Amino acid sequence: MHCPFCQHEDTRVIDSRLTEDGATVRRRRECPQCGERFNTYETAELKLPAIVKSGERREVFDERKLRTSFDRALQKRPVASSDVDTAVREIINDLRRSGEREVPSRQVGELVMRELKKLDQVAYVRFASVYRKFEDVQAFREEIEKLERDLPGLDGLQLPLLGGNKRPTK
Ligand SMILES: [Zn+2]
Repeated sequence: MHCPFCQHEDTRVIDSRLTEDGATVRRRRECPQCGERFNTYETAELKLPAIVKSGERREVFDERKLRTSFDRALQKRPVASSDVDTAVREIINDLRRSGEREVPSRQVGELVMRELKKLDQVAYVRFASVYRKFEDVQAFREEIEKLERDLPGLDGLQLPLLGGNKRPTK
């Protein structure tokens, strides 16, 4: 690391210690050229990326909003709250792991779908039908057919289960 005092290209670590909570390493450095000493701190980057909505609008990631998406899709479905917690945690960890500073909201929507697919098929279809804002009846039908191929056992699912007014009509 360059010296912040004289811009010399190299500095020497003369001491290195972990902070009390174990989350940060503090290093004491010395510049061999000007002799100045300074500290650097190393922490894991765990900040969540900003969410970019359509129209380039940026939003701070909000765990409660994510949870609300799940709760809405899972309304009256037999899924344990602790399983939803796990799904939410899973998505947050994925976003952290990505190391991105911002992600499109679309990507978060896809992650929600991935988790719902594991939790409950009806909730998954509910969310997908609203989320993918099908442009016409044909697009909707194609998606349902795709789901039936991906999720055997969906056959018994009647369209009225999809949650009412978002159901395309003709
Ligand atoms: Zn220096």
